[in-house]
Amino acid sequence: MRPEILFPLFAPIGTLKGVGPRVAPLLERVAGPIVRDVLWLQPHAVIERARARRLSDAVDGRVMTFEVTIQDYQKPRSQAQPWRVQVADDSGLMMLVFFGRFGDQLQQRHPVGARRVVSGKVEESKFGRQMVHPDYTVDPAKADEIPDIEAVYPATEGLPPRRVRAFAHEALERAPEMPEWQDPAFLAREGFPNWREALSRLHNPTGEADLSPLTPHRRRLAYDELLAHQLAMAQRKAARRREPAARIAAGGLAGRIRADLPFAFTGAQERALADIRADFAAGERMSRLVQGDVGSGKTVVAMCAMADVADSGGQSALMAPTEILARQHFETISGPLGAHGVGVVLLTGRDKGAVRAEKLRALASGQAQVAVGTHALFQDEVAFHRLQLVVIDEQHRFGVAERQRLQAKGEAVHLIAMSATPIPRTLELTMYGDLDVSRIDEKPPGRTPVATRAVPMGRVGEIVGRLREAAQGGAQAFWICPLVSESEVSDLAAAEKRALALRKVIGPSVGLVHGKMPPAEKDAVMADFADGKVSVLVATTVVEVGVNVPNATIMVIEQAERFGLAQLHQLRGRVGRGSRESACVLLYDPPLSETAQQRLDILRRTDDGFVIAEKDLELRGGGDALGLRQSGLPDYVFADPFAHRELIAIAGDDARLVVARDPELKSARGKALQVLQELFDWKAGLALRDAG
Ligand code: ADP
Ligand code: MG
Repeated sequence: MRPEILFPLFAPIGTLKGVGPRVAPLLERVAGPIVRDVLWLQPHAVIERARARRLSDAVDGRVMTFEVTIQDYQKPRSQAQPWRVQVADDSGLMMLVFFGRFGDQLQQRHPVGARRVVSGKVEESKFGRQMVHPDYTVDPAKADEIPDIEAVYPATEGLPPRRVRAFAHEALERAPEMPEWQDPAFLAREGFPNWREALSRLHNPTGEADLSPLTPHRRRLAYDELLAHQLAMAQRKAARRREPAARIAAGGLAGRIRADLPFAFTGAQERALADIRADFAAGERMSRLVQGDVGSGKTVVAMCAMADVADSGGQSALMAPTEILARQHFETISGPLGAHGVGVVLLTGRDKGAVRAEKLRALASGQAQVAVGTHALFQDEVAFHRLQLVVIDEQHRFGVAERQRLQAKGEAVHLIAMSATPIPRTLELTMYGDLDVSRIDEKPPGRTPVATRAVPMGRVGEIVGRLREAAQGGAQAFWICPLVSESEVSDLAAAEKRALALRKVIGPSVGLVHGKMPPAEKDAVMADFADGKVSVLVATTVVEVGVNVPNATIMVIEQAERFGLAQLHQLRGRVGRGSRESACVLLYDPPLSETAQQRLDILRRTDDGFVIAEKDLELRGGGDALGLRQSGLPDYVFADPFAHRELIAIAGDDARLVVARDPELKSARGKALQVLQELFDWKAGLALRDAG
């Protein structure tokens, strides 16, 4: 239940003065549906409106204020022309320019001879000094209405920044004093104002410096948001821990399977498996994220966990986002597991009739202990005898509901999520604070690093020539086309054009995949590539993460400067999987910006996904965390994952401490924290991505 103190903030925006049926949809577009959303708008600039000056002091391009006399109206000669109003003080002249058909009204409101204070941007044009649509035109008696410093708010057509600002101030008046939810000692140490004061400073900046994310009031608001989020995650984690789940003892089976493998585990793999086994032994429900670069050996670790489950009489399900990935997983694990009597079935959308019925029977009876599959796994007809572990590959590709449906096929089912998107350590808490995380940050030995080169686009002909030679010699290559625009249509056109051009030189073995293709068709092309029927695969960025084509040794990325580092790293990870030398060519359009140059350099120097992710965050600053957002970074209002990174860790510790000491949030601070959580509504947001 929402605490009463929040009612005014959760009222619809229509309750704000001046927000009627015409304005409401506009304001909702800018802010959101409730008063809180308007309160949370943030000015992104300030205008310093100097006090009234003389016209002779006017500076082109500056926002300034003058006290003038209205002298003359010049009617427009056609509709396209503006009204011009000549004004003057004893130092000079200026024209006020008004477009639109409201000349008579203007003349009534500001008759010739009247004195007015006008404020707006001064321009020196070929018509002389002018001010187009002054921001303010008021009687000198009301000059106080013009703010010295004016915060500029986001706006939309039909709703100028100034009106948005007025609504934000109106919302600020509705904001009550809140019970303090932060630790007083911490507030004092950081010099944070209280919540309401912080918002008041947010909406009343006294200069540019007040807009910085590092000001005490902005840091306070960011910390509130981070704490609300961390608290919600810590609570969910604690709740899940309280749910009893099957204790799974590590028997001898996994060891016998490992003895068959032609390699030894890396230290990082050993640690990840040990983490999983500690969870299995605890009798609490596990939710663990195993993070590691493509090819770092996550699947093999999961296979051992599945062997433990089978050994103790339970079943596991391994779910992959595409059919081709499911098939590859099946091929990886069915051999080693099958050799020791563990039944593995592959279930995809392609299974029909008697074959499918037989697979379903094997799972329902417990005759098969492991199911590998796609979305087909969580259909209603799929039942398990005793499902105890769900493994999700590329977890960000699944919705929460999908994961939960699969987990619901057993009781208190353990979860292992696998992700090949390395997250900087500073952000791990933000994205996965509700999960336990094991990082596989070590590569299996014997991999040859991918030789990476940056080549200007002008030399593309040379690259195509080399590609043809390589293809004739039996090599396979990816050619990734750039994300030029927001529109998939034009990206697709670029990819099609490239495929056509490559076909002319290399021949018919050039294939094309893109996001608009039906999944079955996409899978078919990918399968042809995996089988070697396609030598060069042109793709938009849809190339499946994790697809294993050991024979592919060349990765060409067009307009590499447009990709995020993490993305480039993932793309590059698609080659260099066999023992043969691999190459990655980063084609770029010169000249490179300094940041782009740095990015490409980092990629050339290291091949460690975690290092790259950390650098990526640094280079992007907080501003453009798009790639990270796509991989699940929450859309914070105040917190900036880069500028406020040190606050993330503090909030995480704070949240854990609160949950340990006051799990029900019953203390005075606990009650205030409940208000904070409701204010930010994290619970509702998180339910959507609940890992179960
Ligand atoms: P991921 O799931 O992280 O992409 P996989 O578990 O599929 O990685 O492993 C990639 C490849 O590396 C597989 O062919 C696997 O057999 C092999 N592999 C895994 N672990 C090791 C290791 N410790 N040493 C050598 N090869 C390994
Ligand atoms: Mg994988």
